Amino acid sequence: MATRTIADVQQYLRYARPNLLFVHIGEPDYAGHSVGWMSFVYGWAVRRADGAVASVIRSADQAFGAGNYTLVVTADHGGHGRDHGSRDARDMTIPWIVWGRGVQEGAISGEVKTMDTAATVLWLLGTPAPASWTGHAVAGAFTHAAQLAADSAIAASGWKAAGSR
Ligand SMILES: [Zn+2]
Repeated sequence: MATRTIADVQQYLRYARPNLLFVHIGEPDYAGHSVGWMSFVYGWAVRRADGAVASVIRSADQAFGAGNYTLVVTADHGGHGRDHGSRDARDMTIPWIVWGRGVQEGAISGEVKTMDTAATVLWLLGTPAPASWTGHAVAGAFTHAAQLAADSAIAASGWKAAGSR
């Protein structure tokens, strides 16, 4: 449950300053399978997830200082009925929100795929994505200065970049 996850995040960020923190809020998926996607209970679960993201932001603000970190909020899939995993647009459409340090204001142009999330995170960390990955860094969501910093870090690492868009 999000309450347990968020308590763990708060506890962890009291002492740790990770370069990367992955937080998974499972309530929307659980509610979708139990009661149905877009049901009242699903909406409640999404509101809980939204509140959990707000808690993560508060903890990150305390740990790193407001504006000193980048946050990606996304989902690995949507759903319809009580299931997901098909090619139905309701299963395949996900939110992809990036916010904070280095992020350029406004909507992202073009399509973002779920595989782009990991590639974007590696790019932000100055680490090239493996050439076999199909995802690409969503560089256009970031300021020119942030793009230069990420590209320079990757170039300095000596690794061959898989490319970004
Ligand atoms: Zn599921």
